[in-house]
Amino acid sequence: MDLSQLNISGGWHNDAATLEKFSRDMSAYRILPALVVEPENEEDVFKTVTFARNEGLSIVSRSGGSDLSGASIGPGIILNFKKHLNRLTVLGEDTVVEPGMILANLVNQLNDHNLMLPAIPSSSAVCALGGNVGTRATGPKTAKYGTLDDFVTSLRFITARGEVVDTTQALPDYLATGLRQIQQKYLADETSREIVAGRPYIAGGYNLNAFDRYTAMGELAAHLLVGSIGTLGIVTEIRLKLMKQRPSKGTLVAHFRNYDEFTEASLRIKELDPAALEYSDASCCRLVNGKILNLEDPDIAATLVAEFDDSSDKVQTGREIIKAYDISRLWEFKAGSPEESSLWQDRRRILPSLLKYCRQNNLLLLPIIDDIAIHVKDFGPVIQDLTELMRRLNVEISFYGHAGFGSIHARPYFDPAGKNLKEQIETVSQESFNILQKYRGTLVGEHNAGRSRSVYLAQELGPAFEYLREIKNLFDPDDLLNPGTLFATEPISTHMDFTVR
Ligand SMILES: Cc1cc2nc3c(=O)[nH]c(=O)nc-3n(C[C@H](O)[C@H](O)[C@H](O)COP(=O)(O)OP(=O)(O)OC[C@H]3O[C@@H](n4cnc5c(N)ncnc54)[C@H](O)[C@@H]3O)c2cc1C
Repeated sequence: MDLSQLNISGGWHNDAATLEKFSRDMSAYRILPALVVEPENEEDVFKTVTFARNEGLSIVSRSGGSDLSGASIGPGIILNFKKHLNRLTVLGEDTVVEPGMILANLVNQLNDHNLMLPAIPSSSAVCALGGNVGTRATGPKTAKYGTLDDFVTSLRFITARGEVVDTTQALPDYLATGLRQIQQKYLADETSREIVAGRPYIAGGYNLNAFDRYTAMGELAAHLLVGSIGTLGIVTEIRLKLMKQRPSKGTLVAHFRNYDEFTEASLRIKELDPAALEYSDASCCRLVNGKILNLEDPDIAATLVAEFDDSSDKVQTGREIIKAYDISRLWEFKAGSPEESSLWQDRRRILPSLLKYCRQNNLLLLPIIDDIAIHVKDFGPVIQDLTELMRRLNVEISFYGHAGFGSIHARPYFDPAGKNLKEQIETVSQESFNILQKYRGTLVGEHNAGRSRSVYLAQELGPAFEYLREIKNLFDPDDLLNPGTLFATEPISTHMDFTVR
């Protein structure tokens, strides 16, 4: 690699410690990159693309590095946006940010201006806007307000050929013509559209629904990039439309004894349009050992959390609905009360608590089926089938997620010293996929595609998968951007690292 050809104003690193640091994200994978580049401006990104092409290296864009599916690591160049390209350039209902800006920093500034971006992942302290776009991020309030895609108005990005594209301006001819052709073909293809329409709300892969929604090619390009895990372009500027804040009007927490009642109650509460409708199982409550999400009753199966932001009447209606079930405990928290904020703190602590439990017990908490998307009506049946599967495979598991939009984070625990660990991982993944197929669900949900799940997309999407390939071939025919992720073909355990961290 001739680094004298990389003439940028930002920095680059190829020392062992930096390469090691960027060999991991928050998934189970480890791949040592060849080089880490920290661009200071768009021109640096553009020059890095030219350099990568000349050197035959791939590029992985990386913002916060909290990806859970191995999509922010790779063997070529890691383009780290967090270091310099992290500024908020316009603040208001129309906000403009650079990709490396940490989400929590943006949220703090929005709070001061009574504004909100509802799609806030629990990882907001570490994730950044570029990765939020890359994964089409969600948060508890996605149940009511949508994913990050609903708040992105336009983007600037650098193509794999090295062009700078602003999606509010005319696209390069090949992109505009190619996109129009793919869109026309897709809109005439009833079979594929039906498959895509039948997927759960937050199902990932390229955002094919954008073909139905946008007629302007710039808008279409922007919304295809959202959720494309860095495989279509390198985002350098993000423009968002924000909302005025909608404070809570009260929150209910109920512990259910069985999943059928939990599912029925969730569907009924969902009709009240809560701002958030969250779920955790008994093991999460036990391990989080929090102020609210703690359990006294061993018979409890599932906890439902419902926050309302329309009116306190809705809180009361929700309370009446829940009271009709065989619940073990029902809490009501006043808006803005210390208990309400403790509750959300407990909720954010679920994953760190599960990880702590693993460290203490020398277990691995591999995110391999942590991103399930299903139809809300199937919540209970899917959890019960997965529980039964894990019992048969003798694998301990915890579940939590977003009941309001059919998202389940299923976290199986593995013994790193166990015999046939890779085989066990492949079995858990494959058999979970088989269960999801039965319910028209997917392993590719809110954390989006990547090394641990994309391998199933071809089977899941059938003929519609061809559109993913056509889109990729149009934007990046040489597979420069993040290869081996959305179009992964290797067994999911390839490149996994089993060190307990
Ligand atoms: C504790 C924890 C809780 C989480 N909770 C949630 C949750 O509630 N909801 C949720 O959706 N996710 C959640 N996640 C997953 C993850 O945090 C999100 O997907 C987040 O949006 C990723 O942002 P990031 O900046 O860390 O992305 P990164 O890891 O940097 O990148 C993610 C993907 O986006 C691409 N990308 C990054 N920057 C760019 C760019 N400039 N241009 C093009 N592509 C780019 C990368 O190549 C990669 O494929 C959680 C993760 C953890 C560890």
